[in-house]
Amino acid sequence: MAYKFVDKYREQGARKKLVALLRERGISDERVLTAIGKVPRHFFFDETFWNQAYKDIAFPIGDGQTISQPYTVAYQTELLHIQKGNKVLEIGTGCGYQTCVLLELGAKVFTIERQENLFRRTIQVLPKMGYHPQFFLGDGSMGIAEQAPYDKIIVTAGAPLVPEILLKQLKVGGILVIPVGDANEQKMVTVLRISETEFEKIVLDTFRFVPLLGDQAW
Ligand code: SAM
Repeated sequence: MAYKFVDKYREQGARKKLVALLRERGISDERVLTAIGKVPRHFFFDETFWNQAYKDIAFPIGDGQTISQPYTVAYQTELLHIQKGNKVLEIGTGCGYQTCVLLELGAKVFTIERQENLFRRTIQVLPKMGYHPQFFLGDGSMGIAEQAPYDKIIVTAGAPLVPEILLKQLKVGGILVIPVGDANEQKMVTVLRISETEFEKIVLDTFRFVPLLGDQAW
């Protein structure tokens, strides 16, 4: 894919419209909307498809994967309540769009992808855009124990259950956001770690993600 990193008025205008649409659809955290408004989503697309980049849709990005729908990215990000300097583990880097939104909010992001082609592509593209998370290649269903604990953990693929191993890697006061369900649909679940032994789980809206594959997943 031929990437071109040019952000012209047309794309900037389309991005503003996308932010307005997300606000209409119920995203209310202005910090999240500002972050979405800063990330040039068309940089993840071949120039031929730039007219698709600011529609509120998921889109195929090669290697059988998709860039997430902006609404989904905004929804999960809002649930994380990111504070500047938060240490965030993202499971399922994909093309890195969600990663950029987290970085715009001032998070320190550790992101892991299991598909090597996608990983290789994303570690090239993000630094060219000026985004610098810490990249990892491997099975994120296990978390990344060496870098734990995290203030926040976000899973961007659908899991059959909440992996216990991820809860252990959360700080007390930390939040995990993960879609949980079967192959057809998942409920967004947030888990707040209240103490060393107590967790509060909330089940929210229905989404459809690609499956979380790996030792603690499908
Ligand atoms: N966050 C991306 C974005 O902003 O567009 C989209 C992520 S895509 C919906 C889900 C990603 O999770 C895919 O790239 C997939 O390869 C990855 N994935 C699935 N299982 C995984 C695992 N066990 N560890 C790491 N990544 C995984």
